[in-house]
Amino acid sequence: MPATATPLGQLLARHTREGVLYEKLPQDRVRCFACGHRCLIPPGHDGVCRVRFNDAGTLRVPHGYVGALQLDPVEKKPFFHALPGAKALSFGMLGCDFHCGYCFTGDTVVVADEGPTTFSELFASCARRECRPDAELAFPDDRRVIAASGGLRRLRGVVRHRYRGELVTLRPLYLPPVRCTPDHRVYATTDPMLPPEPVRAKDLSPRHYLAIPRRVAAAAALSSLDVAALLRDHRVTYRVSWDLPPQQRELIASATARGESSRAIGSVIGKDPSYVRHVRSKIARGLGEATRTRGPIAEHGTVRFPGERGEGIPASLPVDADLAALLGYYCAEGCVVRSRKRPNRYVLNFSFSHQEVELAERVRALLKKCLGVEARLVLRETTLGVAAGKSSAALLFKALAGGRSSEKRVPLPIISAGPDQLRAFLDAYVAGDGHRYPTGKVAITTVSPALARGVAWLVLRIGCLPSLYTHPTAGRGTIQGRSVRQSPFQFAVVWYTDHAVVRRAIETADNYLVPLRGIEVEAYDGDVYNMEVEEEHTYLAGFFAASNCQNWLTSQALRDPKAVSPPEVMSPSEIVRLAHRHGARIVTSTYNEPLITSEWAVAVFKEAMPEGLVCSYVSNGNATPEVL
Ligand code: SF4
Ligand code: SF4
Repeated sequence: MPATATPLGQLLARHTREGVLYEKLPQDRVRCFACGHRCLIPPGHDGVCRVRFNDAGTLRVPHGYVGALQLDPVEKKPFFHALPGAKALSFGMLGCDFHCGYCFTGDTVVVADEGPTTFSELFASCARRECRPDAELAFPDDRRVIAASGGLRRLRGVVRHRYRGELVTLRPLYLPPVRCTPDHRVYATTDPMLPPEPVRAKDLSPRHYLAIPRRVAAAAALSSLDVAALLRDHRVTYRVSWDLPPQQRELIASATARGESSRAIGSVIGKDPSYVRHVRSKIARGLGEATRTRGPIAEHGTVRFPGERGEGIPASLPVDADLAALLGYYCAEGCVVRSRKRPNRYVLNFSFSHQEVELAERVRALLKKCLGVEARLVLRETTLGVAAGKSSAALLFKALAGGRSSEKRVPLPIISAGPDQLRAFLDAYVAGDGHRYPTGKVAITTVSPALARGVAWLVLRIGCLPSLYTHPTAGRGTIQGRSVRQSPFQFAVVWYTDHAVVRRAIETADNYLVPLRGIEVEAYDGDVYNMEVEEEHTYLAGFFAASNCQNWLTSQALRDPKAVSPPEVMSPSEIVRLAHRHGARIVTSTYNEPLITSEWAVAVFKEAMPEGLVCSYVSNGNATPEVL
């Protein structure tokens, strides 16, 4: 769809004139060479930037408006050394040719209101997508992410695009490496006395510290769980016992379709007409089959699945320290097993060592207290198990925290929980599957990357700096003489509850400053991601503060219908007058990529230079010899 098909595109199309940086080709096609894309544009279409378009063989280019206008001290500009102390009037238009490489790889951990996730998962979770030849944009319904300040800010959208070129790997102490394009700016400092500032990845050195905010926000804590909503997606298929054989039910259905009465049908099959009416009603409601499929049954304040024995579990569960502890034990030692003989039956299992009788009893007591579920102790050859054959309880834990070890995650209600629940969860997790050292060091291991990064995030939330390490495994191990397959990686999270323990990270009032121990550059060809975060234009990448493109509003207005940056009609002489009125000595074409609006910049400069103003042009690159 050409941009001119959108209301904003139509408005912008009225503020254009014929371009200079293009050539006419046969069949009314044009070749634009304002930027390195060198778009070949057929009539009625626009270029990658969406603001230059072919109108019957003539390239129309933006003219006569501004999408952004700002007066700044020159020190805020990349050419801060040009006229020290001077003011610069910056102007920009709309559109973007999408060739900056301000992006991270898809495996980079970012932190959203639902906890740590990866860029690619965040992109995939967005409600709405828009595919462009140059990039894909994903827009969430209502999501927030943690910004560099540690606060939650609204996420405008996530960008994914193909990138071929150099990629910088930043290797910090304590935390996994992050990979980004050389121009991406991350917050760093070489002097712990000075606040971290955005520095391009390619300019970082092992003298730099990266910054992690010390105080991080969380979404509003849930006071209780809606169990029916959590189990809603699970359906069970079960057999229905009928007095009537299937042939007679089919006969009733076909006779009903022919319009026969219940009395007539009953006389054929030897049944009372009222019984036939009852069967017809069930068939009409889709209940005439030998099996039925349905979700959980919520009644009398409880939730259970069809065929589940005994009472259901409470429909509403308070998110208190007891439930948090139970979830902590589950993340450490629990799993959900489906019965081989009864496929609708799920068992909630916890496995402890033979010595951990006290822990096993505590889990039994918590299951009874939180869910009203009776669990039994099971003595196995190598473990002491706690087993609850209650499908609703088992599936609730699976929905909250994952079923298998490699799929475990910190439950969402814990990600946003208050400090008491956080500590209860972590204490239980560590008691089940971690270790506390006399030095105050605490360590846990897991084969789930999502659980590891979730625990690391909780550690940050309780005011400690986590370390997160990834170790490859041998792939196979031996248990009780049996060869078993291992997850390819094991993840360890380590933290210190004793702040007197000396680590090489520095704690300032606002940040943990983590030393960079290495920077590598490699060739890359693949997808990269970036996102726009409102207000701060920053986010956390691998827990480290990073900046995003500040120009979303001006660069993406034609792609993102919610990007609000209405163009303001303005002539070059008005811009010059404004510069004089506000004492600016410099006018600069910037914000979105100015290459795509070069003719407009030249029109402004032609009026500004004779008036004694210094003219500048801030480009991300991707220029052509013609435009230069
Ligand atoms: S400015 Fe670049 S992206 Fe836009 S039409 Fe011209 S060549 Fe294509
Ligand atoms: S200006 Fe912003 S949106 Fe456009 S390519 Fe650069 S980083 Fe991406």
